Amino acid sequence: MASAWRRLGFYVCFLKSKLNGGPDIISRGRRVIPGCARGIYSATGTWTKEYTLQTRKDVENWWHKRIKEETSKISEADKSKPKFYVLSMFPYPSGKLHMGHVRVYTISDTIARFQKMRGMQVINPMGWDAFGLPAENAAIERNLHPESWTQSNIKHMRKQLDRLGLCFSWDREITTCLPDYYKWTQYLFIKLYEAGLAYQKEALVNWDPVDQTVLANEQVDEHGCSWRSGAKVEQKYLRQWFIKTTAYAKAMQDALADLPEWYGIKGMQAHWIGDCVGCHLDFTLKVDGHVTGEKLTAYTATPEAIYGTSHVAISPSHRLLHGHSSLKETFRKALVPGQDCLTPVTAVNMLTQREAPVVILAKADFEGSLDSKIGIPSTSPEDASLAQTLGLPYSEVIETLPDGTERLRNSAEFTGMNRQDAFLALTQKARRKRVGGDVTSDKLKDWLVSRQRYWGTPIPMVHCPACGPVPVPLQDLPVTLPHITAFTGKGGSPLATASDWVNCACPRCRGAAKRETDTMDTFVDSAWYYFRYTDPQNAHSPFNAALADYWMPVDLYIGGKEHAVMHLFYARFFSHFCHDQNMVKHREPFHKLLAQGLIKGQTFRLPSGQYLQREEVDLTGSVPVHANTKETVEVTWEKMSKSKHNGVDPQEVVGRYGIDTIRLYILFAAPPEKDILWDVKADALPGVLRWQQRLWALVTRFIEARASGTLPRPQVLSNEERAEGRKLWEHKNSVISEVTAHFTEDFSLNSAISQLMGFSNALLQASQRVVLHSPEFEDAVCALTVMAAPMAPHITSELWADVGILYRHGRAYPFFSYQPHCVPPYEGSVSHLGGFSFAIILCCFGVSLLSKLRVT
Ligand SMILES: [Zn+2]
Repeated sequence: MASAWRRLGFYVCFLKSKLNGGPDIISRGRRVIPGCARGIYSATGTWTKEYTLQTRKDVENWWHKRIKEETSKISEADKSKPKFYVLSMFPYPSGKLHMGHVRVYTISDTIARFQKMRGMQVINPMGWDAFGLPAENAAIERNLHPESWTQSNIKHMRKQLDRLGLCFSWDREITTCLPDYYKWTQYLFIKLYEAGLAYQKEALVNWDPVDQTVLANEQVDEHGCSWRSGAKVEQKYLRQWFIKTTAYAKAMQDALADLPEWYGIKGMQAHWIGDCVGCHLDFTLKVDGHVTGEKLTAYTATPEAIYGTSHVAISPSHRLLHGHSSLKETFRKALVPGQDCLTPVTAVNMLTQREAPVVILAKADFEGSLDSKIGIPSTSPEDASLAQTLGLPYSEVIETLPDGTERLRNSAEFTGMNRQDAFLALTQKARRKRVGGDVTSDKLKDWLVSRQRYWGTPIPMVHCPACGPVPVPLQDLPVTLPHITAFTGKGGSPLATASDWVNCACPRCRGAAKRETDTMDTFVDSAWYYFRYTDPQNAHSPFNAALADYWMPVDLYIGGKEHAVMHLFYARFFSHFCHDQNMVKHREPFHKLLAQGLIKGQTFRLPSGQYLQREEVDLTGSVPVHANTKETVEVTWEKMSKSKHNGVDPQEVVGRYGIDTIRLYILFAAPPEKDILWDVKADALPGVLRWQQRLWALVTRFIEARASGTLPRPQVLSNEERAEGRKLWEHKNSVISEVTAHFTEDFSLNSAISQLMGFSNALLQASQRVVLHSPEFEDAVCALTVMAAPMAPHITSELWADVGILYRHGRAYPFFSYQPHCVPPYEGSVSHLGGFSFAIILCCFGVSLLSKLRVT
C-alpha cells in the first residue's frame, strides 16, 4: 500500500494536469466500502463506515504525529507574505496542566491553524514564565534545587501539551530562568537605569512574614493577607528598586484610544492608570538653612502654578517619619498627632529653586495613592486655608482676564502664559532637568521590582562605597545566579549568603564593592517575552529590530482576565520604552486582546465551609444533602481547584473522549470570554461527539454514492434537484461568510460550530440523486470539512484524506459559477489537510478571486 503522502502527492500532480486540461473523470472502481473494518482509510485504503470509539482512536493515533510535523514547521520569515502572530500567555511551569491551560491553548491553536490555512506566516510560540516563588518553596519543602524542579516540570508539561495535539512554534521556545533569556532582562533593566527610569528608594512595603518577601499591593487581598502564603502582611521600610512607570502614564493612557477593542480590558487599564492631569516634582530638604542630602518628591495637579507654592505637605505615614531618614527625629519632634504641623524643614524646589516649609498634615489619607503634595493656594482653597491658618506666605500666581481666560503672573519665565501653555512648558522643563515633570495621575505608583528571593533575575547593579550604585557593564552580562543549595526561606535575600558572589570589584573605580542581592519581580521577565519570540536565539541583543518590526504587534493575545491590569500594563510599558529606545517601530505590543473566561467545576459545600466530593453528596432528593449526615449541601460553580474537589484532569478527559472532542467541547461550550461550567453529563460534550459522528456519516454517504459504480452526471438532475443543489450552495456561502467573521472578528467560535452543525444537518438531508450528481453538494461537503479543520484537526484530516480526492475529480465539471457575494473560506495552503494546497481548490472559484481575499 502506498503511503497517504505518496498518494496525495500523486493527486496534486494529477490536479495540476487537470487544470491544464487533463481528463475529466477517473474511475473510482478501486475504492472499497466495507461494512466493518479495522483501521482507517489513511492506513488501510478502505473506508470505515462508523465513527466508533476505535475509529476515533485510530484517527487520532494516525494523524497526531503527522499534523504536528506539518503545522509546527515555520517557514523562514518571508517578509513578502502577511504575518499573523497569535500568542497565548505563557504558563508558570508548575508541573501540571489544568483545564484553564487547555482552554487558552486550544483557542490559540485553532486561530493559528485558521490563519495558516489563509496562507499567512503564522507564529504561535510557547515558553515558560519560569522564575518565581513556588520553585523556591519546593526547594525549601522538598530539598530540590529550584532549577532542577523547574526543568523537570517544563519537560513534563511540554509532553502534556504535546499529547493534547497542540502545535506550537517550539523552535521559538523561551525559558525566562535561563541565562540566555535573563541576560536580556538585565540588559533592559540597565537601559531603564541609564534612561533614569530605574531607581532606588526607601519604601514602605508589604512584607510577607512567612515567605519573607515583599509583595506588590495587588498580591495583598482585601483582608490584608498574602495572596500566596495567606499570612497577615506587615508593613516595613526597605530600600527598594523601582521602575518609573509613571513616566509613561500619560503616553500609555493616551495610546489606549488607538487600540482596537480590548473587550473591556481597556477600561480597566484606564482606571488603573488614572487621570493624568498633574506631575511629581523633586525637592531637596534643608534644616535651619543647611542642606541635608535628603530628597522629597511631591505631586501637584496644577504644576503651572508652582510659583505660588506655600508649603509641601506630607502625610503622618510618610517614610520621612518612619524609615531610615536622617530627618526622622526632626520630623517626629514637630509632629502633634491630629494637627497640621509646621516643621523646621524647608523644601527647595529643584526646578524653581524656591523654598517652602514642609508641613505634616493631620489627615493620613491623601488623594489617590499620594503621601506628599505641593500646597498651592492659588489653585486650591484647601491649601489656601491651611496657609492662612499656619501663617505661611505665598503669592497669587493666576489672574483672570475680563474675557475669562486665566493667565500666569509672578511666575518668572512663565508669567503671561495661559495656564495650558504654562503647564506644557513647565512640565517639559522639569523633564529636561530630570527633576520630575512626567504627567501622571495621583493614583499610579512606580513599579516596585525588588524581591528578596533567590529564584529570579538578579538585578545587575553593584554598590560601591565610593561611587554609589553602578550598573554592571553590558559586556559582563549576564550576572548569573550563584548556585545556592541551602534554602531556609527565612531572613531576607538568599543571594546575600553567597559571599563569593556578592563581593566584587566596582566596575567604575575597581574598589571593593558588593552586588545587589535582590532579584526582580517575575512580572519584569514577562513584560518583554513577546519580543523575544520574534528572535529567540539572538546572542547579541534582546531581539533584532527588523524581525520585531515584521512580527509585532502581536495580532491576537489570549490570556486570563486576571492579567488585565498588572501584566498588560507592564508589558505595554516595556513596549513603549523599547519604542523610545529605537528598538522597535511599534509602540503598542498587542493589537487584539482576548481575555478568556474560567472553567468552573461544580462544588458541594457544607454550611461549615467544608467541600465535599461528588460521591459524598446525595442528589436524589429535592435538595442535595450529605449522603451520611443528611446536612444540606450548597451547590455552586467555582474555579477548578484540587482543594474544592471540582477539578478535571486534562489527560484523563482527553483519554476518555479524544482530542478533537475536547477541543470542540471547549470551543462550543461558551464564547471564549465567558466562563465554562464544566458538566460533561448535561452539557455540550455529547453534542460535539454526535456532531463528529454526523460528519463521518455524511462523508460516508458521499463516498458510498461515488463508489456505487454510477458516474456522477449533473445533467441528469431535474429542475427541483438543481434547485436543491443551488440552495445548498447558497447555504454554504452564507456559512463561509459567518464562520470566517467569527474566526477573524468576534472569536465566537461557539457560534461558528453552531453554524457548521446546522450546515451538516442540511447536507445530511440531501436526496440521494443530489448526493451523487450535484457538484454543489460535493463542494459543500468539502467546504464543511475545511471550515471544521482548525477546530477538529484529526477527524477532518481523515475525512479530507478521502473526500478531498473526490472533490478534485469533481471539479472538472464545468458548470460551477462564481457569484460575487460568495466568500470562500480560507486562502492558501491547508498543509495538514493531507498536504494539499487549498489555494488549488480555490482556483476552481476563479483565480481572480484570490487577489480579493488578501488578508487585511
Ligand atoms: Zn566605585
